[in-house]
Amino acid sequence: MIYIFLGAPGTGKGTISYLLDKNKNYKHISTGNIFRELIKKNTKLAKEVRGILKKGELIDDQLTFKVLLEDIEKYNLKKDNIILDGYPRNINQAEILFEYFSRYHKDLKILVINFELRNKIIIERLTNRLICPLCGKSYHRLFLDLKPKKEWYCDNDKTKLIQREDDKIKSIKKRLVIYDEQTKPLIEYFSDKKILINLDANDSPTKIYEKVLKICQI
Ligand SMILES: [Zn+2]
Repeated sequence: MIYIFLGAPGTGKGTISYLLDKNKNYKHISTGNIFRELIKKNTKLAKEVRGILKKGELIDDQLTFKVLLEDIEKYNLKKDNIILDGYPRNINQAEILFEYFSRYHKDLKILVINFELRNKIIIERLTNRLICPLCGKSYHRLFLDLKPKKEWYCDNDKTKLIQREDDKIKSIKKRLVIYDEQTKPLIEYFSDKKILINLDANDSPTKIYEKVLKICQI
């Protein structure tokens, strides 16, 4: 089964994916993480991506899909529960993905969970987010259940936590504009396919996690 987690940055998709992966053996696929891992490798695909990034050019939707596919095909799509976190990001990517599914995995079940949250709250959340530069675990200064045990240090490896460049106010506003323009049209797209469920994400991570477990019927 494929779960697509749709939602602006800061709506909690990543945290919930992390919890499902850790506790329920769901496979968390985040294109951001895939690219970060890929560019350290020495494969043909990695070289191609590095070349494009070096020139400061954008990676197009076809290549993004090729990179994602390498990861997806490690799993048994019928048996495993897979979360696509932050993918697709636009209609074109969705069409590439669905064309692949209809060609190679015809009876695959797909459910889209749309994490809904107002921009004002997103901004408040993201500016208080911290991340471990070593293991990638996210923390949050406002949520009790996401605070590190020792302030500013990772629970896993004691590395000093940082605020991502992306989480500074100017970049957040830019990301939200891009989200509204490119990704939001997917709500209607998936809704038309009758595979979309809206989720009120204005809650603590624990509560949202409980709601998602109910939706996924775990
Ligand atoms: Zn860490």
